[in-house]
Amino acid sequence: PESLAGAVAAFTVQRNDAPVPEAERLAALATPKFGTVFTDHMVRIGWSVDAGWHDRRVVKYGPLLLDPASAVLHYGQEIFEGLKAYQHADGSVWSFRPEANAARFAASARRLALPVLAAEDFLGALVALVRTDVDWIPTGDETSLYLRPFMYASEKFLGVRPSLEAEFLVIASPVGPYFGGAVAPVSIWVAQDYHRASQGGTGAAKCGGNYAASLLPQQEAYDHGCEQVCFLDAATSTAIEELGGMNVFVVHADGSVSTPELTGSILEGVTRSSIIALLTDAGHEVRERQILLADLLAGIADGSVAEVFACGTAAVVTPIGRLKGTDFDLTVADGAAGAVTTSVRAELTDIQYGRAADRHGWLRRL
Ligand code: PMP
Repeated sequence: PESLAGAVAAFTVQRNDAPVPEAERLAALATPKFGTVFTDHMVRIGWSVDAGWHDRRVVKYGPLLLDPASAVLHYGQEIFEGLKAYQHADGSVWSFRPEANAARFAASARRLALPVLAAEDFLGALVALVRTDVDWIPTGDETSLYLRPFMYASEKFLGVRPSLEAEFLVIASPVGPYFGGAVAPVSIWVAQDYHRASQGGTGAAKCGGNYAASLLPQQEAYDHGCEQVCFLDAATSTAIEELGGMNVFVVHADGSVSTPELTGSILEGVTRSSIIALLTDAGHEVRERQILLADLLAGIADGSVAEVFACGTAAVVTPIGRLKGTDFDLTVADGAAGAVTTSVRAELTDIQYGRAADRHGWLRRL
């Protein structure tokens, strides 16, 4: 939509009369830890098959009242999104390609048989919440207000069929760097016994169940001394798909770049598509294709793979320094962040934080 004024006006605002004390809020903003502290308000919109979307409102952040028979608690009918609000040096507040998140949320809703929320409502909800909690946006380096829209099936019914009632909410949390501190390379455990998603499954949707399925292999990664898990395709266990919460890129020694093609079981990251554009602008040949684990390992071993990195909203761009599996343990180049990884990360964050021209028109004022 051209202007969100009408979309924002659709929300009533009932201000929290007992907000977090200022000293406590400022302390949380000074050293934000990912996803631990939440703002004073949240957005809610109700839905029922009879009434449609109704009661667009900003209310006090707080616990939900859930019937124990709510469908989401039994069958996992739930979807979510993740994006950030960035404060620029002049005090203005922006989000990055929120329409892409709105579109992905609608696609996730279709796959999970949940009602589709109009992009205007999705975007209006973000603006309404950020304007109400504007004092919660941290201003330190690499900090932002993380926005978490989500929807769940709320009907009190134990039959297995799409819920006739749903709730949409947005909560917000001031955040700093996802992996804490500087852009240190992470080590990756390649899961060979477990998959995250399969053809025809829900891998391309952002639903809670995908993350539930990733937790045991993620635990296995920790047990092997790695920070993140990488999944292979479920059909053949030979091709790299993505990490538990990030897409993957490979930079070849000749300057070309590859990323796994969207097969239907991979989540299409907003960061992924932005990086494809930025690297293409910078003259890199970027191919979306199948990347076989065996080829990647051989390339790391013979030096034809120069860099590997992961990307997503939370961690932005994170170098992958080491790849480990049941029968291999390889360091990528010298294990440090590579030049392409470092420069594309800087380019992307410079746009997001208003330090560089937004030449693709990706920013939206909140
Ligand atoms: N893959 C998965 C499984 C994810 O959860 C995410 C985070 N949303 C991504 C990739 C990256 O997506 P985005 O760049 O839109 O954050």
